[in-house]
Amino acid sequence: MHKQRFIVTQRTRGKLPVGKGVLPLDVLQLDISGRPQAWISAREAAVMVACDAIAWTIGEPVMVLRGGINRCSGEQSRIAVHAIVAARGAIPARAWRHEPALSNPKLFARDRWVCAYCGQRFHESDLTREHIHPTSRGGRDHWMNCITACRSCNHRKADRTPEEARMHPLYLPYVPSLHEDMILRGRRILVDQMEFLLASVPASSRLHG
Ligand SMILES: [Zn+2]
Repeated sequence: MHKQRFIVTQRTRGKLPVGKGVLPLDVLQLDISGRPQAWISAREAAVMVACDAIAWTIGEPVMVLRGGINRCSGEQSRIAVHAIVAARGAIPARAWRHEPALSNPKLFARDRWVCAYCGQRFHESDLTREHIHPTSRGGRDHWMNCITACRSCNHRKADRTPEEARMHPLYLPYVPSLHEDMILRGRRILVDQMEFLLASVPASSRLHG
């Protein structure tokens, strides 16, 4: 049975978790215009709160971090961290790139861990990056020429074109959008974060399927 890679976590009702040490929560960082920038740790998000580096947030706080003790009041400071935070300041130049970097985990997630040739679903460790047009014959190592294949199908197709091998992909490659890329990169995605990102993912994406 295939294990779903995206873990969508429900927010705990009422009590907020109070973090110590390494926190098991990723915060979605946006730029001030609302474009996704990165997954950051709750601790990094708390530093942004402390430095007044957050322009706006979405939803309710999902975690409270304890800080230092105030000498005068004797009270420990508490920083509430939201699941989605928008950073103040100029939009970084890299935010305008349109193509996410290609990696095997993201490619397999785009293709829902299904082999393009036999149509079966596999664990990530049994999948390979298959170049539809082989790189040894001039094919590009790019989202549009790459597809997910199981080891045996990739081995069978070898260094041949789909026509030569008489093996045609069951689905088509595509370049994920920036929002989709954030979903493909996310490890534990909260419901609020998934809703925000999916709202901007094209209906044609396999993530909706
Ligand atoms: Zn296969």
